[in-house]
Amino acid sequence: MEETFKILVVDDDEVDRMAVRLALTKAGVYMELSEVSDGENAFSALQNANFDCVFLDYHLPNQNSLTLIHKLRSSEIKVPLVILTAQGEEKIAVELMKIGATDYLLKSQLFSENLTRILRNAIKLFQAEIKADLAYQQLKESHEQLICKNQELERQREQIQLQNLRLLEASRLKTKFLATISHEFRTPMNAIIGFSQILLRPKFGQLNSQQVDMVERILNNGKHLLMLLNEVLDFSKLESGRLELKPEILDLEKIVNNSVSEIMSLAEAKKLSLVVETDLQNTLIFNDSVRVRQILINLLANAVKFTESGGIWVEVKEITQNRLTITIRDTGIGISSKDFKHIFEAFRQVDQGISRKYPGTGLGLAITDSLVQMMGGKIFLESKLGVGSIFKIELPRQIRLISNHGGDGYNLNLGNEEGIYYSHHNPPQLPSQFNRASMGYPHLKQ
Ligand code: ADP
Repeated sequence: MEETFKILVVDDDEVDRMAVRLALTKAGVYMELSEVSDGENAFSALQNANFDCVFLDYHLPNQNSLTLIHKLRSSEIKVPLVILTAQGEEKIAVELMKIGATDYLLKSQLFSENLTRILRNAIKLFQAEIKADLAYQQLKESHEQLICKNQELERQREQIQLQNLRLLEASRLKTKFLATISHEFRTPMNAIIGFSQILLRPKFGQLNSQQVDMVERILNNGKHLLMLLNEVLDFSKLESGRLELKPEILDLEKIVNNSVSEIMSLAEAKKLSLVVETDLQNTLIFNDSVRVRQILINLLANAVKFTESGGIWVEVKEITQNRLTITIRDTGIGISSKDFKHIFEAFRQVDQGISRKYPGTGLGLAITDSLVQMMGGKIFLESKLGVGSIFKIELPRQIRLISNHGGDGYNLNLGNEEGIYYSHHNPPQLPSQFNRASMGYPHLKQ
């Protein structure tokens, strides 16, 4: 069925109104036509009913169509408006279009075809405008919502920033506290160790066996405590970027053998084999002997601590002329892959419980990782629960000195995982001469 248009003709000239009516009727437009002769009546008609289109004479009695258009606009009455104008008034019609009229038609052109074309176009244009208006409105609303969200996000960002600052301050205080406490404890601890060593010297005087046993215990516990304090002190130095490497030319083979000898008694006490294999054309390296030893002792002590039976194997190898690897493998309790990431974080242990079986500060691997990074190296870890672990360290033969704040120090980013490679992503190449079967080392899943 043809669409019926509701049309309003506003013209004080009866003949002109008739001309519009006839032209529309002749064009076969289905319509409900209303006619008024002035702006006042047009306004109230438009207030009371919806029209699809208005044909509006430019010259109205008492007021011109400009006034009516303004009135309609300020009352937010929206309707397609076609201005009927006389020859020579096109300019005015264009001005009217600028303030809200949809189109214009010269009265001399009031033919059926023109009128229907203009009617349909005006309705189409008007509908498009309404759609555009709606879209603009929605856009405006989303824009406002976005502004609100942005403000909320900005507020949250400021809060997070504030919290970060507080956390940083708390962390700085914690580091300072750790450094001060461990430093202060070291002096009396050194006295305890020193005096118990003097007490054990025969020239000081003879102690009975029970007294010797007690002083030895004081000495051993003192040494253990001092080691823990040093670990905490090192950690606080690393965290605040105050730890510096002091490189020199060293014999790596010697350092490895010495470190293994230090740990040997612990391994023997647990009836674990501890085997070293070195394959170096050139045993010399340029590194910090204290820190290389510290890395080795940390890893070896862990291997012994977390192994109940079987053994520990150490292998030192050249992968290129300028890069070396130190691999420490054990047949210990192993580490689940979900813990790989955490164990390199400070104070993190697989077993965090207060009644845990294995003692320790949880700082050894964090320190090891940081030192290896400072040296420009990488750590690889391969492990399987109940089977064993492999910690492999790759180091440059010669470490590079990186200036820290213009000084001689090193840049340290504690907790940065760049240097750690976990085996479940990137399994290390196992040394060929380490025949797992022949060494009784069970196969690890790669
Ligand atoms: P600590 O030994 O003082 O607990 P570390 O930082 O040296 O601290 O080690 C962190 C944790 O990583 C250990 O508590 C242990 O859970 C795990 N771990 C380290 N080395 C081994 C290993 N060789 N075998 C099994 N678990 C290990």
